[in-house]
Amino acid sequence: MFVSIVVPLYNEEENIEPLYDSIKSAMDEEGKDYEILFIDDGSTDRTLAILKTLALKDRRVRPLSFRRNFGQTAAFVAGFNYSKGDVIVTMDGDLQNDPKDIPKLLSLIGKYDIVSGWRRNRKDPFINRRLPSIIANYLISRVTGVKLHDYGCSLKAYKTNVVKNINLYGEMHRFIPAVASWYGVSITEVETVHHERQRGISKYGISRTLRVILDLITVKFLQSFSTKPLQAFGPLGFLFGASGLGISAYLAVLKLSGQSIGGRPLLLLGVLLIIVGIQLIVMGLLGEMLVRVYHESQKKPIYVLRDLDLEKDS
Ligand code: UDP
Ligand code: MG
Repeated sequence: MFVSIVVPLYNEEENIEPLYDSIKSAMDEEGKDYEILFIDDGSTDRTLAILKTLALKDRRVRPLSFRRNFGQTAAFVAGFNYSKGDVIVTMDGDLQNDPKDIPKLLSLIGKYDIVSGWRRNRKDPFINRRLPSIIANYLISRVTGVKLHDYGCSLKAYKTNVVKNINLYGEMHRFIPAVASWYGVSITEVETVHHERQRGISKYGISRTLRVILDLITVKFLQSFSTKPLQAFGPLGFLFGASGLGISAYLAVLKLSGQSIGGRPLLLLGVLLIIVGIQLIVMGLLGEMLVRVYHESQKKPIYVLRDLDLEKDS
């Protein structure tokens, strides 16, 4: 099993070397074959310079560098794209995750496709970190149906083919287990150690919570309707359209019996409901076209096959 360790780094100059040493001793102790992909996410400090020196010293260190700060999710995706391992381990680059936990995650990866860390004893401030994360974790598990205690923990291990098939945007790295679960992967979690940040500063503020919630809405929508948009918009469209028609029919009867209906607010409502109803149905149909264009142009099937590792099983 060849392991790719993916670490995003944004202005972490003081952490890189201790982190490298720590990963090295954890992996060498287990006798694992591995590479470390350090992704410099447009750092403005000495992060890149240190990475280059490390890479010259140790061939297993593979640095990537973004031209500007694209964010942690983009850094993970770059790591996935360039990794050569059968298994990918992701972790933070600030030593809050402990590389000593990596073997524990790897030992479960044969049995599961994804092993997620759980920072049970999380060492972050309560008000602006742990509290929002308790709320976010609750919402994510309710909405996505994937039951984990700690979606935000970066320390996770994946079978490579699981993440290579997933497209991620925004702040979505914490939804990888949720997105992957639609493809029918198996997921488990293990308790991992968490340390206080010793060096450098955190890159996020409280505003991340809002972005996570917005991404959750996107994820939920895509999960429920990405292959059947008409079913998302259609029912509401029918409901609106039918009520509009009912109202209009009622007014038409009144008109025919000689009453004036020109000044009735109900007329406006009827017309509005018909228009909105038609719009919703048309939007669903447009969505259906988009889905087809996407799947057909990308030659993307609407199913995902399991890996049948015949040699291993026999
Ligand atoms: N990070 C990154 N790009 C960013 C922000 C953060 O690559 O735009 C990295 C950062 O260097 C660290 C990890 O993502 O390795 C987690 O960030 P941080 O420790 O600031 O988050 P926190 O632990 O405070 O939630
Ligand atoms: Mg951190």
